[in-house]
Amino acid sequence: MVSCVLSGGIRGIECFLVRVEADISEGMPVFELVGYLGSEVREARERVKTALKNSKRQLPLKHLTVNLAPADIRKSGTGYDMPMAAAILHAMGEIPQGSTDDTLFAGELMLSGEFAAINGILPIALEAKRNGIKRLIVPSGNAPEASVVDGLSVYGIKDLTELVSFLNGETVIEPEKEPPVFFAEDSGADLKYVNGQKLVKRGIEIAAAGMHNVLMVGPPGAGKSMLAKCIPGILPLLTKEECLEVSSIYSVAGALNNRRIVSRRPFMAPHHTVTETGMTGGGAGMRPGCISLAHRGVLFLDEMPEFSRNALESLRQPLEDGRITITRYRGSLSYPSDFMLVGAMNPCPCGAYPDLSRCSCTRNEIKRYAERLSRPLLDRIDICINVERLEYREMFNKSENESSAEVRKRVCAAHSLQQERFRDMPGVYFNSQMSPGDIKRFCALNEEEEQFLCKMAEGLGISARTYHKVLRVARTIADLSGLADITMDCLTESLFFNRMYGSQ
Ligand SMILES: [Zn+2]
Repeated sequence: MVSCVLSGGIRGIECFLVRVEADISEGMPVFELVGYLGSEVREARERVKTALKNSKRQLPLKHLTVNLAPADIRKSGTGYDMPMAAAILHAMGEIPQGSTDDTLFAGELMLSGEFAAINGILPIALEAKRNGIKRLIVPSGNAPEASVVDGLSVYGIKDLTELVSFLNGETVIEPEKEPPVFFAEDSGADLKYVNGQKLVKRGIEIAAAGMHNVLMVGPPGAGKSMLAKCIPGILPLLTKEECLEVSSIYSVAGALNNRRIVSRRPFMAPHHTVTETGMTGGGAGMRPGCISLAHRGVLFLDEMPEFSRNALESLRQPLEDGRITITRYRGSLSYPSDFMLVGAMNPCPCGAYPDLSRCSCTRNEIKRYAERLSRPLLDRIDICINVERLEYREMFNKSENESSAEVRKRVCAAHSLQQERFRDMPGVYFNSQMSPGDIKRFCALNEEEEQFLCKMAEGLGISARTYHKVLRVARTIADLSGLADITMDCLTESLFFNRMYGSQ
């Protein structure tokens, strides 16, 4: 007889339903496994056979066929072990008719018969819910994560023996049901603990308000990393949908680390030795990389010129599209990677420039250092902030600093204005995404401002691209003040934050 149970496979961060069928018939005692399978899935045969034996459920000496449908999608990973075992046990008559209906199974089997947690259980649970499936059976280690999805009964099962007795109704297991905590308020780093640095704080507020990419230039020890860490906390809190989307990426990457859900905006700070694959994702498991783990949050590159050229250039597509497509010999996959890029660098290799009494770098060394950031990459960075070392009296200033929550209120207000502005424009949400055409439409200047900007552009010799950056950032500055028109003050401030390092 043929028995069939449901499972789910992962492609990118999406899940597709898989039907696992098992058939036992007379004939040579072989175990056939078919259905366009990756190597880990083919190895499931040995795991399932041995695990059944070690759970005192010997396979019958008959012809056993297991098929994973649909046959046109390649299946990978170890999550099909549990549904295969369930389908075989069902075909063997070890578990009763109907006990696997309306249920999705996913989990890895160890040779002992115990189940092991797998990556990507959250997208599987979300897909189960979308398909109206009521029950999810997973390894105990996966149950807390899967139970984040409401409307599903999630059962965490220890081993094969427990699975059989549970499906036979001999063991009662309570579904996992602790509600998840969405909307984490505190963001770890808070601006209220950062003294001084008024201009930098203003710069990152503007950046957050228009989702502009930022480059911070300053000597070591000026607090660039600390300020960067504060940026996720001044961005709006993640919505529930965003939490589930970001958590799905972490789930697939196996990066949840005992958290059930990611409820704060991500902050990823890869070391400058990160490889291109580490940055974009891919490799043997086609796992998401740093830029996808930074999705909806901040990707912070400290010592930016020290990163490899390939790692830096790989950022260009995702900065443009908010997604990364990884192509390998096994095919291609796409992961979301919509992040705010925050770069930091020293003003010169030794870090002391422009303090000529301490800087020993030659002009050429400084030039070469700056040129490690390519023009196309710099073109995607709208705001440049000079970060200076604090003076001692500022460091010990006792006056109250504004908290991240206060700044966030203004950032949220600016975001709402932009949502209203771009409501008819699919794919555009923030000022930083405006094309030259959009800039013409939404950043029209009055005569006096127009003349001023022309004069400045001529005087500073700025390119058309920089001109557009100035307008985009000026639009955000106007939004932060709730102004309909871009005023002279907005332009002046925008020009101040556009003195791109090494651009003149
Ligand atoms: Zn130097």
